[in-house]
Amino acid sequence: MSLCTDPLHIALPEWLVLLVASQGPCVSDRERMQFVVQLAAENVERGTGGPFGAAVFDETTGRLVAAGVNLVEPANNAALHAEVVALMFAQRAVGSFTLSSPPLATAHMLATSCAPCAMCLGAVHWSGVTRVLIGASREDATAIGFDEGPVFPESLRYLEARGIRFTDGVEREAARAVLQRFCDLKRPLYNG
Ligand SMILES: [Zn+2]
Repeated sequence: MSLCTDPLHIALPEWLVLLVASQGPCVSDRERMQFVVQLAAENVERGTGGPFGAAVFDETTGRLVAAGVNLVEPANNAALHAEVVALMFAQRAVGSFTLSSPPLATAHMLATSCAPCAMCLGAVHWSGVTRVLIGASREDATAIGFDEGPVFPESLRYLEARGIRFTDGVEREAARAVLQRFCDLKRPLYNG
């Protein structure tokens, strides 16, 4: 095993790049969730990663800022959960390490097809988003064997106290069905 000091390169799947290029604004919570559930489903069907999708939107207009899918297995990178990927590409897109307003002119929100794990909740905290929209629940993910890590009610309250609003259960059944599909296909489970 040799030491690696090469730059890290994170490539989004080609199908996602094409899909987001033609995506118009998603005005409602339902539209935003349907979009990220579609990402999760495509990621499973095309075999490009785990059953999770996420996207960052301009909270007011619903303009899509960035999208991500779970890339843990293809990229050999445990940090590349859909939420982290979407947040990283969003910050790249706006040219700032924070998505908050101020300093940006507009506030941003994250939509994720499944409740954030411990790592992603941390990423949410530092990202500057002011709202998180959640599809499938933590219980839905753990039911098929994913480990969501140490997320406690206190963790959510901590973020809420700092101005981050959570809305869960949006299109939950559709989001849960993608998890089940991944399980039915007997795709390998990794940590989460
Ligand atoms: Zn995660």
